[in-house]
Order: sequence, then C-alpha cells, then structure tokens
Amino acid sequence: MTEQESLVDENFPLFSRKPAKAFTKPVTTTVADDPTSDHTQFVKDTSSNDDTSHLTFTDLKLSDWALQTCKELGMKKPTPVQQHCIPRILSGEDVLGIAQTGSGKTAAFALPILHRLAEDPYGVFCLVVTPTRELAYQLAEQFKALGSCLHLRCEVIVGGMDMITQTQKLVQRPHVVICTPGRIKVLIEQNPDIPAVFSNTKFLVLDEADRVLDVGFEEELAAVFKCLPKKRQTLLFSATMTSNLQSLLEVSANKAYFYEAYEGFQTVDTLKQQYLHVPKAVKDVYLLHVLSRMEDMGIRSAIIFVSRCMTCNRLGYLLEELEQQVAALHSYKSQSSRLSALHRFKSGKVPVLVATDVASRGLDIPTVDLVINYDIPRDPRDYVHRVGRTARAGRGGLAISLVTPSDVSLVQAIEKETDKQMEEFKCKENEVLEEITKVFKATRVAKTRLNDDGYDEMEKTRKEQKRKSLAEKGLLKKNKKRKQG
Ligand code: AMP
Repeated sequence: MTEQESLVDENFPLFSRKPAKAFTKPVTTTVADDPTSDHTQFVKDTSSNDDTSHLTFTDLKLSDWALQTCKELGMKKPTPVQQHCIPRILSGEDVLGIAQTGSGKTAAFALPILHRLAEDPYGVFCLVVTPTRELAYQLAEQFKALGSCLHLRCEVIVGGMDMITQTQKLVQRPHVVICTPGRIKVLIEQNPDIPAVFSNTKFLVLDEADRVLDVGFEEELAAVFKCLPKKRQTLLFSATMTSNLQSLLEVSANKAYFYEAYEGFQTVDTLKQQYLHVPKAVKDVYLLHVLSRMEDMGIRSAIIFVSRCMTCNRLGYLLEELEQQVAALHSYKSQSSRLSALHRFKSGKVPVLVATDVASRGLDIPTVDLVINYDIPRDPRDYVHRVGRTARAGRGGLAISLVTPSDVSLVQAIEKETDKQMEEFKCKENEVLEEITKVFKATRVAKTRLNDDGYDEMEKTRKEQKRKSLAEKGLLKKNKKRKQG
C-alpha cells in the first residue's frame, strides 16, 4: 500500500482519488525556476487574496449569539484565516486551511461548526482528531468557551484515561468529540455500540492535519472514516504544508476550498531568535544561567524543549534540586501527571515547563515569553512549532537555542528554512561558570533519582515496544529518523 492510497477515503472529496481538476483556485504548478525539478508545488491562492481584511464577524454571517461570544472573549475582528475560512465552512465546503500557529485557526473552524450545531443540535455533531492529548484538552476548552451559551456537551477522548468512562460518555452522544487517533480507534473497535454514535456526524476536523496524516496514524484514521457518514464536511487545518497534505490536494475534487497563508517555515516578526554557544559538558550550567536572567528580562514563563523523555525528567529533577519552580511534560508520564504539569504551568504556579515535542504544537499559553531549545530539533519544522509557543497573537517573544559544536549544522538548516538569522545571546562565561559546582552536584542527585525511578529500564522497554509496533506496520525504516515526544 502506498502512502497516498492509505489516506484514501472514498467518502471524502479531499481523500478521494479523483484526478485533480481545478481546485477552488489553481493549486499546482511545476516549480518554475527549476525546470529540472519534477516536484510539484502549490501556488498561493491568489484570488483568495481578494481583500477580505475589512470583514468583521458580522460580515461573516455568524449568529448573534456567536457575535456576542466573540465580543465577550475579546475577539474584536476576525483574523485572516477566519475571514477566509468561516464563510466557506458555513456554505458547506470542505476546507484545507494552512496558516501560522497562533493565527486563530481553532476559532476558524469551531465558530462555523457551533453556528451550524445551534441550528440543529444533536450528538455527535462534530468529531475533531488531533495528534496530542494536551491539544485535545486545549481544543475542548476553546470549543466550550466559544459555545458557552449553547449548553455544549463536549468530550475529550484520549489515551491514558479510563476507557469504560469514555465509552459511557460516547454513548451519551455529546455534541462535540475531541480525540487522539489511537484511543478513538481502540474504542471504535472494542465496542460495537461506538461506531453508530458517529453515524450522523456532520463535521470531521483534522487539527494539526500534517501530523495526523502522518503515515503512523493510517490505521487509526481508517477506523474513524469507517464510522462516519458520506455526507459530511471535512476540515483540515495545519500550520505547515507537508507532502501528505500536498498529495491530498493533488487528488482532491474541486469541491474543497484551500486557504494558504503559509509562506515556507515562517516564524513571526515579533519573535526574537537567539543562540548561545555552549560546551556540551556544561550545557546545564548555561541553562541555569538563562533561567536566572528571566526576571531581569521581564519574562513571565518559559518552555524548555528537549528531545527525549529521559532528558525531560532529568532536567526536571535537576532544576528542582536547583530550587527552580518547574513542571515536566512528556509521554512517559501518566495522563493525570501530564495534565497536572500543564495545569500548574498554565495557571502560573510554576514559571518553567520542561517538555518534549508533545508540547511543541498548537499549545496556546499567552504568558509564555521564552522558548529555550535545550536540544536543537533535527527537523526545522519542529523548531518552528516549538518557537510558535511564544510571540503569539501579535505579542513579542524570545527563543534561545543552546548550541553545542555538534549542533551547528542543525542551526544552519533552521536558519536556511526560516530565512532568518539568529543573533547571539550575550553572556559572560566567568559569570555563568560560577554556578558549576552547584549544578554538578544537582546533576548527581538528579541521576540518582532517575535510577531510582527505573527510567533506564522504562526507556528500553518503550523503545522495544515501539520497534515491534513499527515492524508490525512495516514502517520501521521510514520512522527510524523520527524523534518521539
Ligand atoms: P489558535 O491559532 O487557534 O491557537 O489561536 C491563538 C489565540 O488567538 C487563541 O488564544 C485565541 O483565543 C486567539 N484568537 C483567535 N481568534 C481571535 C480573534 N479574532 N481576535 C483575537 N484573538 C483571537
């Protein structure tokens, strides 16, 4: 089975394998300035550049209750993705929206869905699939806020939570179900009553669609598609364009609308991007130094991104030992610990979150003024997602990347992709190294705590499980390079 075939759902225009005719706009062209290239590329939807910037929420023809809710939530004017996509969704079209993180994508689909739900309320009206558990909870919060006057029943169905309770909730047919792919598949397959719950679903949303359409989720999506009716709207939203999304567009029917505000791996102009050269052996000392300057820099809260769960836990212990207020978020934790860590960070109880890439997408926490890349991501797209946790909605923000000699090429690749040069974060080496003894002592304590927790064993077991599961799916080679949160 090819990648593209595996994404096919004959019920869904965006997934059907019809030859690409005219999309809403001209969507493909061969790369003009490279005649040798056989890749296709999407041209920007120029006629969607029709000036919509004057449109207000009232112009978008949303119901009065929705207009009032937007006002109460401080949403004075629709963002561009909302101006373009809301009318299309209201008029019944399938939509693929590509827009930067923090651009108001969630309300771009939630508002028109809630508008339609209010006209004919039943459950399950809408199913949203999103790649991480934290995003599922965040989406539910936004649906609840936007649908606050509708007595909206919205349920989150994610891994790590009790399946019997989840089944009971689903059979009560909430209006909106927000799920991660793995758990919904298990519930659909294990309980014969569940597929029927989705038999009248009007909307399917794939949030962070590039990730959800990742080959690793094929089986999960296939299980979801089987339960959904042919007559529905499908909405895909993503911050980045990937080959999977591109393939979908190439095989799509002309019913779907494609909105693209995406211009490469962009970071926003209000984001200041810096690097700090650090010798590997004293990376933690430099990290502590950056954290110690947060207050002076007027930074309210920071997320430190690392590549591995083990590093995440180690840094959590280390910083705790150094009397920093931190929470750690990674996928080895139980779901209740993950939620608790995120809650403590979001509510401002702790100003620092150490996280793997489970937190790199979509999370919207307005107080995050700083993102630290403790480990430099191998894929520049992950960098863009990570730093997108700050400088949101027009605010300023700072990203500092700790760069060891072996990371230089990774940073160069990021700079090339984002077309932005990082500046140096200035600090005095002698001042930084004053804390070396303290940090090294704390490192020993952190390592002992990790050993006591049996983290080494846990990591080996998880790796083995993952290897087996990938081997079963025949994906071992392809996914070898992917890092996991
Ligand atoms: P999102 O891109 O969906 O994660 O949204 C980013 C942030 O922008 C969220 O905090 C939203 O509540 C906020 N937001 C969405 N739409 C608007 C709007 N029209 N005006 C002001 N803020 C908005």
